[in-house]
Amino acid sequence: MNVITDRFLCSWIRCKRKAWLDLHENSNRKIWTSHRTLQLDHQHKSLLALNPLKPARGVKGCEEGAITVSGLRIKGFIANHKVECHPLMIQRVKGTSIWGNFAYQPIIVRQGRKITKEHIQLLAFWLNLLNQLQEGSLKSGLAISLRPSGLEKEEVIITKKINTQLILSLNKLSTDLSKKIDLPLANDQKKCILCKWQKLCNKKAVKEGNLSLINGIGAKRKKTLEEIGIRNIDTLANTKSNILEQKLKSYQENNNVNFIRLIHQAKVHTTEKPQKLSEVKILNQIINSQGFLIYDIESDPDENHDFLHGFLPVEKDIFGNFCPMDGKYLPILNLNKNQEIDAWLKIQKTIDQYPNFPILHYGETESLSIVRLAQRQGTNEEEIKKIQNRLIDMHKVITARWILPVHSYGLKPIAHWIGFHWSQGNVDGAKALLWWRQRDKNMIESANLLKILQYNLDDCKATWKIMEWLMDKT
Ligand code: SF4
Repeated sequence: MNVITDRFLCSWIRCKRKAWLDLHENSNRKIWTSHRTLQLDHQHKSLLALNPLKPARGVKGCEEGAITVSGLRIKGFIANHKVECHPLMIQRVKGTSIWGNFAYQPIIVRQGRKITKEHIQLLAFWLNLLNQLQEGSLKSGLAISLRPSGLEKEEVIITKKINTQLILSLNKLSTDLSKKIDLPLANDQKKCILCKWQKLCNKKAVKEGNLSLINGIGAKRKKTLEEIGIRNIDTLANTKSNILEQKLKSYQENNNVNFIRLIHQAKVHTTEKPQKLSEVKILNQIINSQGFLIYDIESDPDENHDFLHGFLPVEKDIFGNFCPMDGKYLPILNLNKNQEIDAWLKIQKTIDQYPNFPILHYGETESLSIVRLAQRQGTNEEEIKKIQNRLIDMHKVITARWILPVHSYGLKPIAHWIGFHWSQGNVDGAKALLWWRQRDKNMIESANLLKILQYNLDDCKATWKIMEWLMDKT
């Protein structure tokens, strides 16, 4: 019988395969993810906000009646399952226990805005074992989360229903863990972004021609396609669009679905040859200009803070070829979110310096952010309109014009496919955010800040490479 740990339960709630891999797969095949480190960073800060004092360790801390205790490992049974847990932290509350006239309550840190099934079941798991250890009968756990407005706390009552659901989960988890072959991939690929097994699973997805690799196919659509007999990319690529539309009629899934695009995307995936859809006028606007600015921002979404606005000018040389001017890259830092007037004045100066240059960016974040910033600074509508008219979203340009053999039309997958490499290894937005949160705030030019600037410059260059590729194909 496998011992079921809180880690397995946590993994299993996210993805059944993940729990199986945690138990059976070689841990060397895991990869490091910035998302996980960001999560741990938030966890640490939230726990510190709850109690700035160092928690006591293990059972000894409980015996001493410490306010908070960490490092506790508890073994026991829940409904015939041999279980083990390692609660994040527990805090002393009113009640009785073997240690005296107090008891301990488990604490969980919530990263998003809402309590999830994972938080509730984990708290129930911890509380069950904690009650066995302290011989108590506490009925609640505490969920906390450090937000820009302060520490949020929420008492979570562990009802009979929750305990029944926990036992059901443990029964299924135990069956899944004892399976001899690995479990299927998660239907919802969004879960994979955070997962340490993503490299291994991506290989499996490619090998089996998993439909989730096709842009535009999410968990629900994948399930529907499988129900009508389309189980892999090859089958989808060889399906006629009218037949697909016909088959999907009885499902609500056929609303707003571009069937032709889905099939073409599958074909491009199998042949690995990009397919041109149409000419896009906007390219002439760029080709006929003397140059353009590439714009990319870095943000802390939890704080609603755009802390860096990077501009890279690309100008025509004497032969009429566009050349990115690395030396003229202008990073405008907005270190203090409450004093963004300085950043705004610098942004205005930069775009006024190149009055006839279109401003290229990738995705809608930049256009939304610059308009909101202008509005907050009281810029008049006419000025805002002028800026908006200069903005060109390269994501829209490329998706309207091409179907590419990529899993997603984000900046990174497309730039990688074209052959662009970021100068710092293993970087992404989450890593840049981690650098930002862990920077030395006492130094204007901290090592982390310099890494962020390099990352932002590379994002601008990647946008340029996509533009260059498009111009090449025109
Ligand atoms: S990468 Fe995705 S499919 Fe693989 S274990 Fe993680 S969540 Fe599941």
